[in-house]
Amino acid sequence: MPKPVVIQTIDFNKTPAIGALLMKEGQRYELVAANGHIRKDGTPTILLTWRSHCADCGSAFEIVTGLHTKGSINRRCPLHTSPGRSVTAKGRARQQTFMARHGRRQVGR
Ligand SMILES: [Zn+2]
Repeated sequence: MPKPVVIQTIDFNKTPAIGALLMKEGQRYELVAANGHIRKDGTPTILLTWRSHCADCGSAFEIVTGLHTKGSINRRCPLHTSPGRSVTAKGRARQQTFMARHGRRQVGR
């Protein structure tokens, strides 16, 4: 059996093979499905379904992304999903930077 491809970022030019592994900040996501999808504007695209385990309770959950996804993806099951709460200190630091840059206050105006 070929070794599964391990990737770090969701940024594909073509659909990755089912079974590809995404490692993101220590969390593991396995690609379980890739489906064609028509966007609202009529453009065809691919939606990738990833399976992972909740950082809080370990339950399996699935997330859907496009071929290109910037920023963070869900690390918890729907029960523990908590937008704005990061699992790692690194993630928290990044989030604060993001809020400082993109927060409601208009900076530098
Ligand atoms: Zn959970």
